[in-house]
Amino acid sequence: MKIGVAKEIGPNERRVAVTPDSVKQIKAAGYEVSVESGAGAGAYHEDRAYQEAGASIVTGPADLWSGSDAVLKIQPPLLNAPLGKHEADLLREGATLICMLRPLSNIDTVKTLAKRRVTSFSMDMMPRSTRAQRMDALSSMSTVAGYKAVLLAAETLPRIFPMLVTAAGTIAPSRLLIVGAGVAGLQAIATARRLGAVVEAYDVRPAVKEEVESLGATFVGPQLSAAEAQDAQGYARPLTPEQQKKGMEMLHERAALADVVITTARVPGLPAPRLIPTSVVQRMKPGSVIVDLAADMGGNCELTQPGQTVVRHDVTIHGPVRLAATVPVHASQMYSKNITAFLLHITKDGAIHFDPQDEIVTGTCVTRDGAILHAATRSRAEGAATAAAG
Ligand code: NAD
Repeated sequence: MKIGVAKEIGPNERRVAVTPDSVKQIKAAGYEVSVESGAGAGAYHEDRAYQEAGASIVTGPADLWSGSDAVLKIQPPLLNAPLGKHEADLLREGATLICMLRPLSNIDTVKTLAKRRVTSFSMDMMPRSTRAQRMDALSSMSTVAGYKAVLLAAETLPRIFPMLVTAAGTIAPSRLLIVGAGVAGLQAIATARRLGAVVEAYDVRPAVKEEVESLGATFVGPQLSAAEAQDAQGYARPLTPEQQKKGMEMLHERAALADVVITTARVPGLPAPRLIPTSVVQRMKPGSVIVDLAADMGGNCELTQPGQTVVRHDVTIHGPVRLAATVPVHASQMYSKNITAFLLHITKDGAIHFDPQDEIVTGTCVTRDGAILHAATRSRAEGAATAAAG
């Protein structure tokens, strides 16, 4: 089986799905590896390093995609404008694709993959289980994004983070509010604490209170039972109107007092919950900063512009959509470990081994044998087809 590592073509995408170290691991498992020339350049992995690891270098996307039995990448297939072709159409019929497919947001691409009988696996659908932990790319990227969000805020804030006692007087520490204490939020808390800020964290899941406090922050979330707040996978459930109202009041009061608000709140498969309305931004101190890590899902702040930084009511609002890509070396290293572990998990005797009993396989598989296996994506695809026919 020939594994292909494609060069990412998304804007500002500097990561690579597989590093030279992982190439060695894949080769050791008995697979051939081809890498598109320049694929690792953004993460400082030159073609020569891949060759030394045992990969062959392929020039251009057309040869890489069509010559591979399985293509590994980060972003979902995109239109390659210079080539005039969509990456999903470059894949060989019946080949395998492993990437962060985000199928619910990329219905047309999923339909193309199904039509071309591609077996596709979405790294962002990895089950949140102990077995799958080393393949959990979403957690890896959230870790990097949570760290970088704090640095972005520190860079923008016209204040110092730590308390300083100087001959020129005492400087009060900055106050941060982290909204959503999942993987990104917890990393943001840890990073902000290391920089000496006073940190509060808000989440709808009461289970995070202990983790928040163990990192030296104060938990300010609503008091819900675990069953009310999260599903069996550990993801947040949408709140009832009453729960929402109570939580919102508390959140808005804390946000108005913060110098920095970092929002990371998500509910899988749904647009990001709107948590910071314009009225709260207006109440924040001039010069305050918001970093909205849910910008790619529409944003937690009403004034967020995905992919942009805007200043509204004297508050700087960052809406980064690919923050992990701004730390390409370590983000690639982590993603590469995750995707390589996944590849080696789903292959056996030189081929993809589809084990219907394995939740890692069934949980991540989006298309196979011409069908869309992921139920929510299938019903959205069918809904789109019905709407088009009507
Ligand atoms: P996520 O990115 O889906 O959500 C981020 C955070 O936003 C979550 O903490 C969620 O509770 C919170 N949130 C959602 N709606 C909100 C709202 N209206 N207001 C405030 N906060 C809201 O989640 P994630 O960070 O990827 O992971 C969530 C949890 O899953 C983790 O904290 C962990 O407990 C679990 N997890 C388990 C594993 C594993 O076992 N292998 C791996 C990763 C994560």
